[in-house]
Amino acid sequence: MSGLKGIKTIRDFELKDKRVFLRLDLNVPLANGVISDETRILASLPTIKYAVEKGAKLILASHLGRPKSAEDKSQSLEGVGKRLAELLQMEVMLVEEPDSEATKALLVGLKKNQIILLENVRFHSGETQDSMEFAQALAPLADIYINDAFGASHRAHATIHALPSLIKEKGIGFLIEKEIQMLDQLLDSPKRPYIAILGGAKVSDKIAVFEKLIDLVDGFIIGGAMAYTFLKAKNISIGKSLVENEKLNYAREMMARVEARNKSFLLPVDHIVASSLHETTGEVTTSVTIPDDKMGLDIGPKTLVQFSEAVKGAATLFWNGPMGVFEKKAFSKGSFGLAAAIAESKGIKIVGGGDSAAAAEQSGFASQMTHISTGGGASLEYLQGDKLPGLEVLRTKIR
Ligand code: AMP
Repeated sequence: MSGLKGIKTIRDFELKDKRVFLRLDLNVPLANGVISDETRILASLPTIKYAVEKGAKLILASHLGRPKSAEDKSQSLEGVGKRLAELLQMEVMLVEEPDSEATKALLVGLKKNQIILLENVRFHSGETQDSMEFAQALAPLADIYINDAFGASHRAHATIHALPSLIKEKGIGFLIEKEIQMLDQLLDSPKRPYIAILGGAKVSDKIAVFEKLIDLVDGFIIGGAMAYTFLKAKNISIGKSLVENEKLNYAREMMARVEARNKSFLLPVDHIVASSLHETTGEVTTSVTIPDDKMGLDIGPKTLVQFSEAVKGAATLFWNGPMGVFEKKAFSKGSFGLAAAIAESKGIKIVGGGDSAAAAEQSGFASQMTHISTGGGASLEYLQGDKLPGLEVLRTKIR
């Protein structure tokens, strides 16, 4: 079943001269105040442009980072507003007090080439508390509410959840529509063979997704730090590698269940190791075992060949979590090499946001993926089968 059932999209509304509250995810990374990756801004443009073309009076809203208070100007959306103005060739007016009379007046008199951008909604404590009071202050600004903030839709926050509950006309934008359609391809009769590549820091973060995928996929490929918990569960020496000792039993049980279902479960057969996380060079192990004084920080070359071979023939691929500490050049070959192999595969290739999205971008193969999610947490929760509060509130109840 489509995850979008009962949810309207922006196309379903007559937008001309309507005040449209558009919740976006403009939560971009900043390095010394400068936007270091504008993917989320670019991903928001189609919905903004559509609304502008249809003659809407637009109020954009987003969060940025985790500010402690409105005094935390390092988390201001000012820079994002400037970039939006350049990209849209429009005047973007940053508004600090959304519920003031001045803002309402501004909105009424909004000209064709102007849009309003509310300052970081997390400057108001009510945002993360899903405060009805904060939502009630914002609701009079809008005739129509549109959520296109996929990366924030797994959070019951005021502009995602409480606010749309107060507005009758509501729906999603093009980004959420695409994200859900892509993720649904991983859930509803996926093309086979279907391989899930899971990596990253911890097994515990991915248990729910393992549980969901175990009956859907034909095989798993496991890399990153989480592979060491599985290797240790098989009594293989992993030296000082990161491990979750309290998950060893789960790892054993999980591998037995995969085997009982006749599915493949690929673990690293060699590694790039170093004596600590602070090292900037690594060495290749000759076998699967890791010396006592070393830790595994990336998959090794033999593993990369095996993993690459396994993804080649897949018709559906889902990748979540890097194969190693890809942030450092010495430990990035596994993640970047795998990105290259995924890119070459002819199947549907979906990258589940967060660090794997960053690894895909840095590998240079991002444009060859079918879809790279803009929301790491949201895409995992959706795949796990969790209900996303930001979507559920928009769904018409089917009796
Ligand atoms: P996650 O958020 O669970 O996808 O984890 C991503 C993080 O896991 C990245 O910051 C990687 O540097 C880290 N990581 C991946 N492999 C390893 C490893 N072998 N040892 C330590 N950290 C790792």
